[in-house]
Amino acid sequence: MPADWPLVVFLLLLGPAIGSFLGVLVDRLAAGGDVILRPSHCAACGTRLQWRDMVPIVSALWLGGRCRSCGTAFPGHLLRIEVAGLLAVALAVSQGQGGGQTVVMAGFLWCLVGLFYADLLYFRLPDLLTGALFLLGLGLAAFDPARGIVDGLLSAVIASGAFLAIRWGYRAWRGREGLGLGDVKQIAGIGAAVGWAEVPWVALFAAALALVVVGIDMLRGRGLPAGDMRLPFGSFLVGGTVLTLIV
Ligand SMILES: [Zn+2]
Repeated sequence: MPADWPLVVFLLLLGPAIGSFLGVLVDRLAAGGDVILRPSHCAACGTRLQWRDMVPIVSALWLGGRCRSCGTAFPGHLLRIEVAGLLAVALAVSQGQGGGQTVVMAGFLWCLVGLFYADLLYFRLPDLLTGALFLLGLGLAAFDPARGIVDGLLSAVIASGAFLAIRWGYRAWRGREGLGLGDVKQIAGIGAAVGWAEVPWVALFAAALALVVVGIDMLRGRGLPAGDMRLPFGSFLVGGTVLTLIV
């Protein structure tokens, strides 16, 4: 058991709640509505949810993922994002160095969870999440005695610069957008966290994951992807970052 186990227990309890919050945040940012203030409610019948309907993971399992009043199923990603919030803590505890560094690592991974779902569901990488990711990525660089905050800033600039160059190059070559500005902002935070030398690995893992997903789609008989097929590359970058952190 790690020396700071009270912190670990606290983060493990907090993880699903953060995931639950991220699910609501991502949905509301995409809808362009009021982000935080409106109380949670059932989208089908409008019934305001009570605290017992909103205990992360437990409520979804207890009620079978349905509204207590009208029985309409809640979107499945709301439970999955709560579980992802918990897994992020597990990864932060296993990879972190304890104390404040583990807290910053957990925050960084929670931002990645939010970005993963925002891009997967809505093809959007909200500035709120890429901005927080950048600050937490700098925090991780600052905690690393071999790197420091200047290395974090430099890594962010190099990673974003490389993505900007790819964005411009692709647009000049194909005449359309291949890499969104959201991806450029997202890689800044990732670069700050992992360091510039690791960024090629993140991109390589992300591209490999994208190929695997497209390949599985083709094997399922959905045919060759069209040239203008849209991929949530931000989600694959999240996968690439997690793999880079683990390997
Ligand atoms: Zn309802």
